[in-house]
Order: sequence, then structure tokens, then C-alpha cells
Amino acid sequence: MKPAPFDYVRAESTEHAVQVLAAAGGDGKVIAGGQSLMPMMNFRLVKPSVLVDINGIHGLDAVQMRSDRIVLGALVRHRMTAMDALVAKHIPVLHQAMKHVAHLTVRNRGTFCGSVCHADPAAEMPMMSLLLNGVVHIASPRGQRTLAAQDFFVGSLVTALEPDELVTEIEIDTLPAGTGWGFEEFARRHGDYALAAVAVTMHCRDGVASDVRIGLMGVGEMPMRAPQVETMLEGREISAALIGEAIEVLRAGLEPNSDLNASADYRRHLAGVLARRAMTDAWARADKGAVA
Ligand SMILES: Cc1cc2nc3c(=O)[nH]c(=O)nc-3n(C[C@H](O)[C@H](O)[C@H](O)COP(=O)(O)OP(=O)(O)OC[C@H]3O[C@@H](n4cnc5c(N)ncnc54)[C@H](O)[C@@H]3O)c2cc1C
Repeated sequence: MKPAPFDYVRAESTEHAVQVLAAAGGDGKVIAGGQSLMPMMNFRLVKPSVLVDINGIHGLDAVQMRSDRIVLGALVRHRMTAMDALVAKHIPVLHQAMKHVAHLTVRNRGTFCGSVCHADPAAEMPMMSLLLNGVVHIASPRGQRTLAAQDFFVGSLVTALEPDELVTEIEIDTLPAGTGWGFEEFARRHGDYALAAVAVTMHCRDGVASDVRIGLMGVGEMPMRAPQVETMLEGREISAALIGEAIEVLRAGLEPNSDLNASADYRRHLAGVLARRAMTDAWARADKGAVA
């Protein structure tokens, strides 16, 4: 398939990009890596009248540390995130997750921010931005605004972005030294979209868990956290038995869809298996005395 006809503008700045989006009257689309947008256009699932290419905008391709958080610009590719030394050191759970994202050619072009904007419930980056308390920085003709990742995702492939808005960067938490983490994913082939994945981080002091975070993908309309299970583990002494109880609560709270790839029951079961492994890894990795 070929896309429907469209105009193309190579933006020179974020101001230029949002002006062109605004002039398109809701019919424009940003293109970053094009790894999700172009297939959608080729299948004519979207037919923008104008594509605003942000690849020429200076300064959007950096991974930076800002006030103990990591900031990923709108042109930071999956491969850059996967290979970045700051990410590997300060967010090892994200470093691990990036190993599962797509294949080399897609990783060379696709961007972290583009994936978050695409909001596929089976994509790693939206889930990781939720897990890491992401804040999305947005430019528009009305100025700048920020949105927490938990408010950004509205539905499957739907976000709170207005048509004339551009995501300039996303900032995410680093993990304090001693944080335990686990990441588990199951896909039919390595690099394919996952059937399900689970990411867990936790602190442990004298075996007692705190700041427990659980992220899930592929088991609902949107990437999600598991607040009920997080609260259940908070302040408790972690044990294999407690993890077993947590998995039961987690499973009971999931309402996955059935589709061509897997039934709802299978996805629920899979989420439980992956969550048990990820929680056990996080518990094992946590430095039991290092974090207050
Ligand atoms: C074969 C294949 C396998 C894949 N496997 C995986 C996988 O395993 N895991 C995974 O997570 N992903 C996977 N992907 C998707 C890939 O990671 C995409 O790169 C990603 O979803 C989108 O990033 P992008 O930069 O290419 O965005 P684009 O395709 O350029 O854009 C995607 C959407 O986001 C919007 N957008 C992009 N950037 C911005 C911005 N800065 N501001 C506002 N809106 C913006 C666009 O307008 C569009 O609506 C796969 C893709 C392919 C083709």
C-alpha cells in the first residue's frame, strides 16, 4: 500500500513545527522515526494532509541528567537509549527493557518520545515512562506545558496530546543506588511486539519493601501500573509466599483482551508468571540495607 497524498515540511525549530501543525487545522502529523506512522499511513489508517518532520531541529537528540532525573529529547532513538551510559548506570531496568524493543533497523530510527506519542499498549517505552514517573514536556502555539505520564495515556493509541502539540522531551526517574529491579517480557520472536511484559522496582530495608512500582504492558487497552499490588507490598517483609499472594491479586485485577495472538486467559496467566519472575528478581537485586 502507498500513503494518501500529503504535504511535507521539514521544521527548523519547535516553534516552526507547532506553527505548521496549527496551520494544518488538526490534520497535521509529526514524523520522528516514522516507524509507526509510516506503516499506519501506508495502510491508510491515518491520512494527514501535512507531515511535519522534526529531524532537522537542533538539540532534540540528547540524553541528559537534570536534577537527578534523566531527560530524553524527542529525537533520541531507541538505539541511543539502549546504549546510553547514563541510562545503563542510573536506570538499569530501562536498559534491560530496551534490549527487547524491535529489530536493529527499527531501533536505529524509532524514538522514545515517538513511541510514547504512539501509545501502543504493547510497546515498552510507554510502560517504562509510567513506571519511572515520566513527565512529558509539550510545546504548542500556546506555549509550554507538562503532563504526567499517567495522565498522558487515554486509550489504545490515544493520548491527551492536542493536534497542534509537539512533545519536546520526556523526563524520567533515575533509580537510587540499591534499588532492586526486574524486567520480564514474552514475545513470539525476540524483537517482535510482546504478548505481555512486566517491570518491577523496589527498595528493601531489613527485608521490608518500600517504593514498590509495578508496570505492565500488553494486558489492557493502555500501559498500566498495578497500584493495588504496589500498596499491598509496601511496608511488608518480602517473601516468596507474599509474592505468591501479590500475583493472585494482580491476576484478579487484570482484564486483558483476546486477540489473534493470545486469549485473555492466556495473557492473564502470562502476566502472573512474568510478574512473579520480575518481583523475585527485584527482591534479589535490592540492596537490603542501602536505601532509607
Ligand atoms: C517491524 C516493527 C517492529 C516493532 N517492534 C516494536 C517493539 O517490539 N516494541 C516497541 O515498543 N515498538 C516497536 N515498534 C514501534 C517502534 O518502536 C516505533 O519506533 C515507535 O512506536 C514510534 O516511534 P517513531 O519515532 O518511529 O514515531 P513515528 O512513527 O514518527 O510517530 C508515531 C506517532 O507519534 C507521533 N509523534 C512522534 N513524535 C512526536 C513528537 N515528538 N510529538 C508529538 N507527536 C509525535 C506521530 O505523529 C505519530 O502519530 C516496531 C515497529 C516496527 C515497524
